[in-house]
Amino acid sequence: MAEQVQQYKCPNCAAELRFHPKKQGFVCEYCDSFFTPEECKAANEQMSQQAKDDAPKQEEFENGNSLYSCPSCGAEIIADCNTSATECYYCHNPVVLKGRLSGEYRPSKVIPFKLTRDDATGIFKAWCKKRWFLPKTFASESQLTHMAGVYVPFWVADCRVDGKMRAVCKKVRSWTTGNYEYTETKEFDVYRSAAIRFEGIPADGASKIEDELMEAIEPFDYHDTKDFEMAYLSGFLSDKYDVNKAQVFPRVRNRAVNGSDQLLRASMTGYDSVRVTQSDMQVLQTDWQYMLLPVWFMTYQYAGKQYSFAINGQTGKQAGTPPLNTGKLLAVCGAIVAGCTLIGAILGVLMA
Ligand SMILES: [Zn+2]
Ligand SMILES: [Zn+2]
Repeated sequence: MAEQVQQYKCPNCAAELRFHPKKQGFVCEYCDSFFTPEECKAANEQMSQQAKDDAPKQEEFENGNSLYSCPSCGAEIIADCNTSATECYYCHNPVVLKGRLSGEYRPSKVIPFKLTRDDATGIFKAWCKKRWFLPKTFASESQLTHMAGVYVPFWVADCRVDGKMRAVCKKVRSWTTGNYEYTETKEFDVYRSAAIRFEGIPADGASKIEDELMEAIEPFDYHDTKDFEMAYLSGFLSDKYDVNKAQVFPRVRNRAVNGSDQLLRASMTGYDSVRVTQSDMQVLQTDWQYMLLPVWFMTYQYAGKQYSFAINGQTGKQAGTPPLNTGKLLAVCGAIVAGCTLIGAILGVLMA
């Protein structure tokens, strides 16, 4: 019994569970979840079946990819065996071949690229045209060669939440009879209980890419999601995740718990006031998809700073902070000041 107990993994974050004698169930010290022995057993049986089903695909993945690493910034870049990576898409330094990436890193789903390199270049050029204050080299042909089609690693979660909420709700009614004003207050003890399911809560698993940049090119359309095949990687690069699902789980749980709380609050309608006295939202099971999402990605070094630019490889939505050519800006400001002085001088002449 004791041996079997230690093998249970957390259905939310896959960390090892501990038996809690007082609660007569299993607790995850990592993510603070609690499970009854039955919930635990069912979820773990499902997980081990999944692992068995995935084994052959993992082997194929292991044989089909090449793993490169960047000696300068430490990035780890994945390509399929027929695509070779030469430079790091973060810092543009040469990368070295490290070998293969183990099968456990195999993604389960992918949204394939819809935009070609030409599409992405076109979007980038149009974006630059609207910004006259960019440094000249930013939109140059040599800079454009640094644009890389990157499958960014994402953890996408489906959660099951068991929600309970208790509230004191009031209905107030006032009326006047003769000289008397009456107020009637009815108080209700309201209880809600619900099983709620969330689908497709995303969190990126690449620490080197700014979360804000990835959020700015959202949303991705999950309708185009495919089961991962090595063939999708062909001609593109991918990033090895370095933030695991246990690390992103608190972010996902917050969204699921807050969402459930809002849902139950919203269901308490028809009262003049609602005071929630108890809100208990338990995330019972989280199913993860390790998914690759398509991004045309480019970084640019300027005046000692790194700038990142990204285009959603599915929808074409672009984002990034443009570098400013301060020389150009100053020149324009100078020209405006000079122009004003000239106008002032002409007006001065006319007034005289
Ligand atoms: Zn956990
Ligand atoms: Zn690098």
